[in-house]
Amino acid sequence: MITAQEFEDGYAETVGTTVQQLHADGRAAEPCTCDWDLCRGWILGYARQLQESA
Ligand SMILES: [Zn+2]
Repeated sequence: MITAQEFEDGYAETVGTTVQQLHADGRAAEPCTCDWDLCRGWILGYARQLQESA
């Protein structure tokens, strides 16, 4: 299982942006409970009340 930070890093790289920009847009990793074999345990959801000190 990777960490939320690792997931966000990978997501940002995949879509050509930065984690800081994702957070600025209100996006953040959330635990995923699907049964997909390739799921890494996280999805990028909308964190409306994200409290993070960039
Ligand atoms: Zn999943």
